[in-house]
Formats: sequence, C-alpha cells, structure tokens
Amino acid sequence: MIEIIWLGHGTFQLKLESGEIVLIDPWINGNPKSPQGFKIDHIDTMLITHGHFDHVADAVQLAKKFKPKVIANFEICAWLETKGVQNTGGMNKGGSQTAGSLKVTMTHALHSSGIQDGTSMLYGGEAAGFILHFADGSKAYFAGDTSVFSDMALYRELYAPDLAFLPIGDHYTMDPRQAALAARLIGAKTVIPVHFGTFPILTGTPAELADLVKADGVHVWELQPGTAVRW
Ligand SMILES: [Zn+2]
Repeated sequence: MIEIIWLGHGTFQLKLESGEIVLIDPWINGNPKSPQGFKIDHIDTMLITHGHFDHVADAVQLAKKFKPKVIANFEICAWLETKGVQNTGGMNKGGSQTAGSLKVTMTHALHSSGIQDGTSMLYGGEAAGFILHFADGSKAYFAGDTSVFSDMALYRELYAPDLAFLPIGDHYTMDPRQAALAARLIGAKTVIPVHFGTFPILTGTPAELADLVKADGVHVWELQPGTAVRW
C-alpha cells in the first residue's frame, strides 16, 4: 500500500510501505495548485524528470534541507551539485538504481529539459520519465512531461505497470487524446492525470480522458491536491 499525495501540477509525494517519503518533481513555491498549508517535513528520495522550473523550482532548497538521495539525469545532478546538493544519483535512460526500498528505471520522454539559472538557460540533458518498482512487486509509470510515443509499448512489455501518471494538459505535453493512446500503449488499468489546469493554457481535463478510455476499461483517478489516497 502506497500513500499518494498530489501537490498540484506535476508534483507528488509518495509514502512507501516502509514509511520512506519520495518527492517527485518538487514545485511548491509559486505553484498555483499547491495545497494550502501542506508541509514537507521529511524526504528520503527525490526524483526529477527534467530541468524545467515547474519540476525543479524547490529541488535545491528541499534537497539541502532534508538531504534525500536525488535521482535525475546526469546533467541535472551535475547542476544540483554546483548548487551545493549532495548525494545525487545521476543516471540515464534504460538504467535502473535503487534508493532505499524503491527501484527506479529511467525511461524516455519526448520533451525538453533546459534549466533556468538566473537569466541563463543551461543544458539539462534529456527529459525523462520513471518506472517505479515498489517493494510489493507493483509498478507505476511516471511519464513526466511528454507527448505520446510508440516506445511506451516497450515499457508495457518490459514492466507492465499497474498505474500510470500521465500529463493531459496540452500545450507543453500531450492532450487527453494522446494520453488515451498512451494509456493503451503502457497498458495500465489506472491512470492519474497530471499537468493540467495549472494555467489557462493547460486545457485538457480528466473528464475528457475518462471518456476516451472508457471502452478500454481504464479507470481515470482524479486526485485532489493535498488529499492523501492509498494505492
Ligand atoms: Zn512541466
């Protein structure tokens, strides 16, 4: 059983069965959908999919405060180290590593990954996603920001994730129509929609996705920011 808390946009806190806290794509300050009053008081593992501000804005501050293992691509980890973050685990697509009881495999994503650093845009490697392998054998696909791509079918063949976190907002990522195809390719029976509604241009809605995947028997699980659910 894993506790999932959506912190708005693409940010999630997971509490594993072991009690370990995993924070994914930390954007708290300035996140319009960040739940009021939610307090992070511990982080064991931090995962970062790519370098855009809406996925890393609070990474340096939180990593310095709570000293988690930080997992991201090689370039983002190198950048974090220049900011004083320690205990990074830079990796690349296709690779896996473990952090506590969690094993992660870095997957492809069709997106960009520049890091805004002051007035400069630094090279942030390639955007990625993760397969999360939990201790009980269940798996989730955390797509990160991406459009749909056919290699999602390979991830189904390799990992058969039970749950998928898919962006649906459009404009910067796939829209509900592409996300419906992504759900079919990855084969997950439950989809948590993310990266929508934060700004007016992110127009995709969970209801649209639910309509499109009904025939496939896929459950669209719409979370409320700040409300813990169990999976
Ligand atoms: Zn984003």
